[in-house]
Amino acid sequence: MAFEGLADRLQGTMQKIRGKGKVNEADVKEMMREVRLALLEADVNFKVVKDFVKRVSERAVGQEVLKSLTPGQQVIKVVKEELTELMGGEQSKIAVSTRPPTVIMMVGLQGAGKTTTTGKLANLLRKKYNRKPLLVAADIYRPAAIKQLETLGKQINMPVFSLGDQVSPVEIAKQAIVKAKEEHHDYVLIDTAGRLHIDENLMDELKDIKELTKPDEIFLVVDAMTGQDAVNVAQSFNEQLGLTGVVLTKLDGDTRGGAALSIRSVTNTPIKFVGMGEKMDALEAFHPERMASRILGMGDVLTLIEKAQMNVDEDKAKELEKKMRTASFTFDDFLEQLGQVRNMGPLDDLLKMLPGANKIKGMDNLSIDEKQIGHVEAIIRSMTLQEKEHPEVINSGRKKRIAKGSGRSIQEVNRLLKQFEDMKKMMKQFTNMPKGKKKGFKLPFM
Ligand code: GDP
Ligand code: MG
Repeated sequence: MAFEGLADRLQGTMQKIRGKGKVNEADVKEMMREVRLALLEADVNFKVVKDFVKRVSERAVGQEVLKSLTPGQQVIKVVKEELTELMGGEQSKIAVSTRPPTVIMMVGLQGAGKTTTTGKLANLLRKKYNRKPLLVAADIYRPAAIKQLETLGKQINMPVFSLGDQVSPVEIAKQAIVKAKEEHHDYVLIDTAGRLHIDENLMDELKDIKELTKPDEIFLVVDAMTGQDAVNVAQSFNEQLGLTGVVLTKLDGDTRGGAALSIRSVTNTPIKFVGMGEKMDALEAFHPERMASRILGMGDVLTLIEKAQMNVDEDKAKELEKKMRTASFTFDDFLEQLGQVRNMGPLDDLLKMLPGANKIKGMDNLSIDEKQIGHVEAIIRSMTLQEKEHPEVINSGRKKRIAKGSGRSIQEVNRLLKQFEDMKKMMKQFTNMPKGKKKGFKLPFM
């Protein structure tokens, strides 16, 4: 995960000041020294760090903070607010043209993730905003670039406009927009060519496409792993083309995060989306406040809820809720639920969005273990229909059979049965409980 080092260090620093009954200027100074080092180590642009530290210090030693009843927490609040501001403050939304289609140009260096992001963005536009995008293959230089977009298009069941590699990108873009109008696409996403380095030919071609298509958005796709270089790249693309937004990719890797924290203030271009993996659903809208919250270990429950909403079938969720209420929840329902949780992405990534999750020691092997979920699934799959619906019929003979069928031990089968029973009991209590008391609800694989 990106930001791991930064998050650890900042949280350590915050921890020291959090509970303090009294905070003086020297404490703030000491803390800011550590914050400064943490940011520099995370590869944040030094000028950005300097400004940030200055702003936080000024606010933190202000009267209302140090004299407050909870000075430590107030200081942390200031850090969070400034971190949010640094990354852009408000979330920057994607444009919608009043005269469709909305045209988006995807630009960036080779390998940054343009083609992948084009597919992901189309997928997100459809899934979250109910849009009907058309993908345009305008990278005619790299062999197989067109094919790559077409393959992605097939994968997400989205049309791709291409005229092969003998027609100029400008002409391709032009014809794509005509076609989009005819077929009532409301978004046109143009996947352009990249180069290893910024060069004039490329810029001229991009300018021509811009001139002709009058895009509503020009998104620069940058690889977060390239650190400060990403900031430089963003600066020159911005000077030449006038960017409207940045998509930071590969934030799932172990980048130190400096680019994410510097790009906005150096280029004054908002980060609109972040790529969190290679799969077509691994694109998230960028929310500065949520990201700041994640970095400071306060969790990102809102993103978690959105993920759930996008991946969980609403009708099924309602049905499930009813079953939970009436305690007619079976092992089959449970299997399905596991499947839906899995759709949301790698479990440890999800866990990290919970407040305080990174403070749990040894979280990697504790807590939710994907392998363990696989084991649970195997055990349930070895049950008969009757057993899944009425687990009370599972006697020791049946347990042996289930253990053998799933390749797990009898103890594990026992444990799951017990946990399932407990869970059902808890569900009953849970659904009868007033809001606010619903704590400590645990699934059997936790
Ligand atoms: P392009 O040359 O800019 O079009 O880049 P591509 O879309 O072909 O992507 C280059 C490589 O980066 C591919 O292997 C992608 O799967 C990978 N990639 C793109 N975005 C992400 C991301 O957010 N996370 C990870 N882990 N890989 C990504
Ligand atoms: Mg490409």
